[in-house]
Amino acid sequence: MLVFSGPRWAEAADAVADRALREVPFYRERLVGAGARGGPVPSAELADRLWALCPLASPFTPAREPTLWTGVPGDLAAAVRLAGRWGRATPVVEARPAWVPWTRLTPAGPAYAPVVVSTPDLDGPARARTPARPVLVAPPAAVAELTARLDHVGPVVLRLAAAEVSGHRGRAAVLFDPHLGYFAGRSPVCGHWHVLWRCFHVTATGGALVVTALRRRRPTLSRIAVPAGDFARVDLCRRHRTPVLLSDPAP
Ligand SMILES: [Zn+2]
Repeated sequence: MLVFSGPRWAEAADAVADRALREVPFYRERLVGAGARGGPVPSAELADRLWALCPLASPFTPAREPTLWTGVPGDLAAAVRLAGRWGRATPVVEARPAWVPWTRLTPAGPAYAPVVVSTPDLDGPARARTPARPVLVAPPAAVAELTARLDHVGPVVLRLAAAEVSGHRGRAAVLFDPHLGYFAGRSPVCGHWHVLWRCFHVTATGGALVVTALRRRRPTLSRIAVPAGDFARVDLCRRHRTPVLLSDPAP
């Protein structure tokens, strides 16, 4: 889907849900459970379920892969690109709970270094990026410490949960969930929270954002609920004609 189409976006999410029921133990179990079919799954319930969230044909193998919750580098690249006016090649330094060995976010995309907030001993690769004025992506509580630790002089992108967005104005920001990863960012062009619609389908219902990862199979993430905060609906940005998260009631 090169140009956004609402019906095709919804079809893509339905296709993930159908495939999840056919191929992925977690969703098959829920179908057997009383009345659970179709109900969104709270993100918080996913933490220890990696084996069940992978297709039967390509199971999670802890001996070879310690976790699959490290996120998708390309999603971070897309969120950062959405959230600011910096160049596509601007390096990215990201605060993370654990180390990853990535040095680039996409094959031709920005250079990358992780920084682990609790472990200053691992700051070397991130500090080495400082002269290139990287974008620092971090939760608000870590920004001051990391800026000082890394001598950071580039832009800062705040990493927020959807429920933390209320009243957020001004600074560049992206939306993040520990299991879904980066799924939206605030555009400096229109000021709206744009969904990364090529990778995620989102609806808003009952105080939750219900998110489907359209491209990931391991883990398969279909209709995952995260607290919506003030977000009440998904509509098209009038300027960009792609989906945005809105807090005002439907007109
Ligand atoms: Zn827009």
